[in-house]
Amino acid sequence: MTEPELSAAVLRAIPKVDRLLGAEELRPLLAAYTREEVVREIRRVLDGLRRDASRLDVTDVGVEAVSRRVAQGLARRALPYYRRVVNGTGVILHTGIGRAVLAPEAVAALAALAGHPQRLEIDLETGARGGRDEGCAALLRELTGCEDATVVNNNAAATLLLLAATARGKGVVLSRGELVEIGGSFRIPEVMQESGAILIEVGTTNRTHLRDYAEAIGETTGMILKVHTSNYRVQGFTAEVEIEELAALGRERGIPVGHDLGSGCAVDLAGRGITGEPLLRRSVAAGADLVCFSGDKLLGGPQAGIILGRREAVERCRRHPLFRAMRPGRLVYTALEATLRLYGAGEEAAFERVPVLRQLTGPAASLRPRARRLARKLAGCPGITASAVPCASQAGSGALPAREIESWGVRVVPVSGSAQELAAGLRTGDPAILARVHEEAVLFDVRTLSDEELDLVAGRLRALAHQ
Ligand SMILES: *Cc1c(COP(=O)(O)O)cnc(C)c1O
Repeated sequence: MTEPELSAAVLRAIPKVDRLLGAEELRPLLAAYTREEVVREIRRVLDGLRRDASRLDVTDVGVEAVSRRVAQGLARRALPYYRRVVNGTGVILHTGIGRAVLAPEAVAALAALAGHPQRLEIDLETGARGGRDEGCAALLRELTGCEDATVVNNNAAATLLLLAATARGKGVVLSRGELVEIGGSFRIPEVMQESGAILIEVGTTNRTHLRDYAEAIGETTGMILKVHTSNYRVQGFTAEVEIEELAALGRERGIPVGHDLGSGCAVDLAGRGITGEPLLRRSVAAGADLVCFSGDKLLGGPQAGIILGRREAVERCRRHPLFRAMRPGRLVYTALEATLRLYGAGEEAAFERVPVLRQLTGPAASLRPRARRLARKLAGCPGITASAVPCASQAGSGALPAREIESWGVRVVPVSGSAQELAAGLRTGDPAILARVHEEAVLFDVRTLSDEELDLVAGRLRALAHQ
């Protein structure tokens, strides 16, 4: 047969929708999905076959082959876009997989409230309208010593809002060493411009002194801003001005002082050997008028931007027209309150109960048994070799840069095929499993895996190694 004849034969052989619906092969699908879903998928598959007819054989379009395609299509489409990921990367706050994992207490609060109405902007005592953010503000007052606090959708919004509310049309004095770009197009000079404030750079990239700030303050200065250099470190011959000195300067000259802390650490990490993240409490005690930070970085809560500080300064943010455009939905307040409550039980409890803090500060020695357990589960698995090895984790999301956290992992080397292929197989399953690929091996850092996830990882590796 000539090519056009072949094509025509394939087109003729493609079964009709009704024939497929009546076929034995499709019965399980009609039990699992609605008729509407099945018909839609059949049409999609048949359209594809007609398009590709010239490249197909008559056997590719038999009822059995078509049914298989329909089943695969339905299964693929049944998988939600947002789905569970098992984090074997050792990056604790991984932007690609949603940063902080919530504590069970926060998950329980969401599960309890999501399907019901909940208190949000109502004073249950009087029945009058109440403050939307008061539940979180009360806990933040206790935790940090601030006078008031509010919540927006993320810290980028918080930074924009505090600048717009405090210094629109005025100058904002900022060190050249702190003109940061956080991943995903958050750049301080651009945020400043969008807020309507005017950037006044002082000092140099590596050294800025108090006198640089003092000399730059003039008639039209609206704010002194300090930005935590979250995702990089300036090392060597450096000098920066601490928040205490800036707050004192601001007081003396009558200029509000803002501090973008980025990660915003609520507990003392230095005591556990992790230095370099400034404490929220410290900025508040220093007298900063407004402090902002992320809810889903080191705090370990939902995505949110938290603004706290002096009563009038926070109230000015809350009354700004942008605030309405930035306020979170009720579930964010719910998860944030539950997370903040964990801190109310004391630092020790917070380190145990907030997953981000637990993962960050777990000593490497405590992870070694977990790595060994995973390696043992893979022992003798044909197609791969697995061994427990020391490795290094990272905080991620710009928190604690230039800092590797000693950890343990399992190095898996495929006997045939590449590590990249193995990693791709892990990534495209459900749940997706993410790991690092390094020197022809797939490395699972067990710092970000839970004990419950080890079987899941081992099972998937076995299945992929068998293919
Ligand atoms: C992460 C970060 C931001 C942005 O916070 P998001 O919550 O990602 O919007 C802003 N400033 C600093 C210093 C940061 O580290």
